[in-house]
Amino acid sequence: MNILILGSGGREHALAWAVMQNPKCDKLIVAPGNAGIAQIAECASLDILDGAAVVNFCDENAIDFIIVGPEAPLAAGISDRLREAGFLVFGPSKAAAQLEASKAFTKDICAACDAPTAGYGHFTDAAAARAHITAHGAPIVVKADGLAAGKGVIVAMTEAEALAAVDDMFGGEFGAAGAEVVIEEFMEGEEASFFVLCDGKDVLAIGTAQDHKRVGDGDTGPNTGGMGAYSPAPVLSDAVARLAMEEIVKPCMAEMARRGMPYQGVLYAGLMIKDGQPRLVEYNVRFGDPECQVLMMRLGAQALDLMLACAEGRLADAQVHWADDHALTVVMAANGYPGDYAKGSVISGLDALPEDSFNMCFHAGTALKDGQIVANGGRVLNVTARGTTLAEAQARAYAMVDRIDWPGGFCRRDIGWRAL
Ligand code: ATP
Repeated sequence: MNILILGSGGREHALAWAVMQNPKCDKLIVAPGNAGIAQIAECASLDILDGAAVVNFCDENAIDFIIVGPEAPLAAGISDRLREAGFLVFGPSKAAAQLEASKAFTKDICAACDAPTAGYGHFTDAAAARAHITAHGAPIVVKADGLAAGKGVIVAMTEAEALAAVDDMFGGEFGAAGAEVVIEEFMEGEEASFFVLCDGKDVLAIGTAQDHKRVGDGDTGPNTGGMGAYSPAPVLSDAVARLAMEEIVKPCMAEMARRGMPYQGVLYAGLMIKDGQPRLVEYNVRFGDPECQVLMMRLGAQALDLMLACAEGRLADAQVHWADDHALTVVMAANGYPGDYAKGSVISGLDALPEDSFNMCFHAGTALKDGQIVANGGRVLNVTARGTTLAEAQARAYAMVDRIDWPGGFCRRDIGWRAL
């Protein structure tokens, strides 16, 4: 079959890498893709937020199956447009994508089905929000309702900080995303990510992961999009995963179906786990980046079969074939990230890296310039490895990092420390 993947990051490179290993894939196009993806698949320039353009592209290229990587096209309704045009799509509808696009929507779904999550209030004016904070005290969490690229959440340790966050949000700092504000109870515990496929009726767990959000070793410094990840997450034991499935994911998916917006695609549940009890922090309606890289490394070719089963409503009969393995990815970022950074620095040594089912350097933000690979973003490479233990995966990943010659970039040296 002819397959189209939408997106251009490390997540999409990992998806492309897994899809290409499956003999069902005759032709793969990634739009817009990046310099690393171009080494294994055809890349096409396409505005993936433009539904009509994507439908046209699929018609012209006889595409049989579309996998949507990032949240923005999902929230803009790309799956609906493609399904209306008769295409098979992996990704939720615009209505179902509200699980990521609106925090108030998700809180409401959780409340309707009693899924464990932080207590909350939802506000459209600053005075009521301020009163709520004064009544509950700190620590407390203030969130812009809409998509704010991970920057719209303030975990406030003092009341003053929380009040300032409310003023900033209603003052327009996050644009339309901050016109409504959710204020949550502060949850203690350890965070982990739980990945589930849902076909509108049935669900299938496809793995767990943990990431490192802070830029510096020892989880210090400012927040980033993620500096590394590993799978599985020890804190998300089978027992905790079962609770997360039965108490959180299944009831929420049933509530979505009941509301006439069945969820179809991958559901990424961010969980806070304390004393073996998971509570929901957030849902994302797509694979995490860089969590996808470690999941794809572990799933390999079967990832395509699972995504097809999900899109075709056949999850009841689907199974994941697990190897007893671990995967770890180290993000290499441009110097200065997550602050200001330069684009265009030359990266050498990539050609000599081992690339097989145990070692892969996925590209997140690269471009090809005068025959050389150059940095073209903040997070640039995802150096990913698999092993029979996490320590082995970590050693393999850092052995690859050490062979990459990139004076313009850096990485954390302690990815996986919590699990090791
Ligand atoms: P992202 O998608 O980048 O993770 P987001 O904007 O969707 O971010 P959330 O995931 O809701 O926001 O929150 C970001 C982070 O803030 C969480 O990963 C968690 O560390 C912290 N956080 C959010 N809600 C709470 C809470 N109620 N209690 C404690 N910490 C929280």
